Amino acid sequence: MNAHTAGENAPFRDRFVIDNPRLAYLDGNSLGRLPRATAERMARVVAEEWGQGLIGSWNQAWLPLARRIGDKIGQLIGAAPGETLVCDSTSINLYKAAWALLQHRGTRWRIVTDATNFPTDLYVLESLRQQLGADLQLVPVPLDQGNHAAVHAALSAVLDASTALVCLSHVNYKTGYAFDLDTVTRMAHEAGAPILWDLSHSVGAVPLDLTRAAADAAVGCTYKYLNGGPGAPAFISIRQAWLEKLRNPIPGWFGAARPFDFGPDYEPHAGIERFAVGTPPILSLAAVECGVDLTCEAGVSELRQRGWGLMQRFFQGYDERLRPLGFELVTPRECEAAGSHVSLRHPAAWQITQDLIQGYQVVPDYRRPDIIRFGITPLYTLASEIEQAIGGLESSVSLGTYRSYPEQPRGVT
Ligand SMILES: *Cc1c(COP(=O)(O)O)cnc(C)c1O
Repeated sequence: MNAHTAGENAPFRDRFVIDNPRLAYLDGNSLGRLPRATAERMARVVAEEWGQGLIGSWNQAWLPLARRIGDKIGQLIGAAPGETLVCDSTSINLYKAAWALLQHRGTRWRIVTDATNFPTDLYVLESLRQQLGADLQLVPVPLDQGNHAAVHAALSAVLDASTALVCLSHVNYKTGYAFDLDTVTRMAHEAGAPILWDLSHSVGAVPLDLTRAAADAAVGCTYKYLNGGPGAPAFISIRQAWLEKLRNPIPGWFGAARPFDFGPDYEPHAGIERFAVGTPPILSLAAVECGVDLTCEAGVSELRQRGWGLMQRFFQGYDERLRPLGFELVTPRECEAAGSHVSLRHPAAWQITQDLIQGYQVVPDYRRPDIIRFGITPLYTLASEIEQAIGGLESSVSLGTYRSYPEQPRGVT
């Protein structure tokens, strides 16, 4: 797709609530917009399913949700039916999946992740390290060069017969670098270790094929590119070959074979349902389905094609207008090495972010110490929003308007 014509229209934009058309919302990688269908569905679930149906709605409508939406997400990540469940948060699912895989570590003792992984992933893995008396190796992979060869070299230097688990985020939240999922999965397997992918920053924006890669397990968010709503439950996906061997570290009744027998002894469900813990949050869960349905309807490869056209527009604006002002592009320019957000580095990143929001009606987000992120959600992001962001960045720095904001970050960034 040509960078000049990409993204003139967003065919799915009118399926979302767009309250202020002048606002360039480029933070869908943190919190996706509200689908119109979700607002309607919420009203129905509350008034009819809860208000009228009461307890009867469990059988009528609620019990099948976690698996049904899981299978729809399965289509987006290339997992087979029955491998994916929507439940809990990404942090909790990461813990459950990593703990379960690590029970099979034998005499291996080292967990491998990358040093710039998302904090929750690092904290969870560190806690497992402590509990299991394992090692946690933080690999300093050179993510922001977008250079697969250098990343693979850094990983292969540490993967060996001591590796018990490799756990990585497919797209790095700060830089936007995307690992080569097939190759890195193969590298872990060649070292004899399973791999657990966190797909939070790629699901819904980047085509994924866990089955082709033979990836062991994955988790991810639904409130980012899938537009599931604030704090919406996450997903967990386990490859069929592992399912019956993996235990849930929190064996709650919803993960049991027959929850409504109320038996005293836990027997895990035969399927992915064993990774459920307790009663699902039905209101949030129902909301997830509307966002996932829109993504399935649009098709992930079509979305990626449109999204990549918008990314290229951003790169072009950067080359022509931002680079000369002291911005540094952090995100790789190669489609196979990038997710769907653009990260720029600037010493005054926090102040510029505040200026964009308050002075230019552009909403990006800020990540310490010096990164501004622009999320591109191909379902609804417009080329004109990219233009508004480039123009805002250019004015903020060339006119110096960012200087009127405090230098120290605070609040939700
Ligand atoms: C957003 C994100 C999370 C968030 O986890 P929660 O449990 O939903 O708060 C986890 N991991 C990665 C890589 C993320 O980008």
